[in-house]
Amino acid sequence: MLDKVVIANRGEIALRILRACHALGIRTVAVHSTVDRNLKHVAMADESVCIGPAPSTDSYLNMAQIIAAAEVTDAQAIHPGYGFLSENADFAERVEQSGFVFIGPKADTIRLMGDKVEAIRAMKEAGVPCVPGSGGPLGDDAATNVKIAREIGYPVIVKAAGGGGGRGMRVVHTEAHLNNAILTTKSEAKAAFGNDMVYMEKFLENPRHVEIQVLADGQGNAIHLGERDCSMQRRHQKVVEEAPAPGITPEQRAQIGKVCTEACIRIGYRGAGTFEFLYENGRFYFIEMNTRIQVEHPVTEMVTGIDLVREQLLIAAGHKLTIKQSDVVLDGHAIECRINAEDPETFMPCPGLIAHFHAPGGPGVRVDSHIYEGYRVPPNYDSMIGKLIVHGRDRETAIARMRVALSEMVVDGIKTNVPLQQRILSDAGFAQGGMNIHYLEKRLKEQKEKALSIV
Ligand code: ADP
Repeated sequence: MLDKVVIANRGEIALRILRACHALGIRTVAVHSTVDRNLKHVAMADESVCIGPAPSTDSYLNMAQIIAAAEVTDAQAIHPGYGFLSENADFAERVEQSGFVFIGPKADTIRLMGDKVEAIRAMKEAGVPCVPGSGGPLGDDAATNVKIAREIGYPVIVKAAGGGGGRGMRVVHTEAHLNNAILTTKSEAKAAFGNDMVYMEKFLENPRHVEIQVLADGQGNAIHLGERDCSMQRRHQKVVEEAPAPGITPEQRAQIGKVCTEACIRIGYRGAGTFEFLYENGRFYFIEMNTRIQVEHPVTEMVTGIDLVREQLLIAAGHKLTIKQSDVVLDGHAIECRINAEDPETFMPCPGLIAHFHAPGGPGVRVDSHIYEGYRVPPNYDSMIGKLIVHGRDRETAIARMRVALSEMVVDGIKTNVPLQQRILSDAGFAQGGMNIHYLEKRLKEQKEKALSIV
């Protein structure tokens, strides 16, 4: 087993990783920036090392400092969490070259999945259904690009191969706009990602976001843990997630799950991972693979009873998967609400001092959060201050529990998006389930217009 792990992250996920380590008897090293001295997991870790000032480029993205922290504390492995360096192939490589275990896939796998053109090519070869598209990077010949778009059929979406975070893409509805859109996306991609490679896909107009969680040991074994529906999004950011996805049949789940596990084995995947799909008219279309633990992983844990971070640690320690596909049985329904320090109307971040905090509780309620009374949310990082997760025997029960849990939640001193989450949880469309990725923004727009007309 691993003896000591460096947690190269902050906030709720750092605490989540710490808990999984301690439950396995693994000692922990918290690395943190100067403004993060008072984080909960820093106090709970066996050791802590300050790795730099507040800006993440100087701390949580500072590869040399993080590796040095592993060296001075004599740790064996580094867990990157999500965001920051979690999908940075160069970091994974440097960690391993320095003699530590990177808790995640091999650097080559991360690199492959980080190049969307290559990732789609590899997935297609592995039999994963993809969005109809150019099948490779777009060249400079305008006539050829027009021909490709005609074959795909409008609307199309032009996407940067190196893109991420919902940036670097452009929808094109008519031929007249095509080549201009390609040129603009190329130059934006060059500026934002240092890589001007772009490709083209069919633009699906009303898809849902459904993703498959996998675990693989890199030793020929892989399983899937079913799917999550993350269609409730604002600006491509997930707001509410759930498992299982409404309306997905056991046969569909088994089929797409099998495709994903086979792809994992084929590419020698190691660790926890997520295949993200757009789902439309009963069909799955692969868009990308995330090679790390995800924010929304708890909903899968709640319905499968499997601790994903524990499994990550075991795999990193060289263990073979002990869970077989037949051991994965879905029980009930789970929903996660992301709790952000932000204005629920304007969505502006709202950092500051938490004067009072009361966490909800009761059967099937889980709170993954690092906040406490007297904690000051710094302005330097993501505004997510925690996740509220509920489990129930069915979706209706889960929704009812989430409503109660949200009503119990008290975070005084700063604004949070709890009122927004309450609106979503009492929305008729959400209650029905299976809404597409545009639903939330459409509802928000309608509500805003209604509020304006009342004024
Ligand atoms: P990123 O890595 O930036 O998140 P993705 O490829 O995952 O990029 O796409 C982000 C989002 O953009 C998707 O969740 C979806 O909302 C939208 N999107 C991407 N590709 C398509 C497509 N072919 N059709 C419709 N929407 C798309």
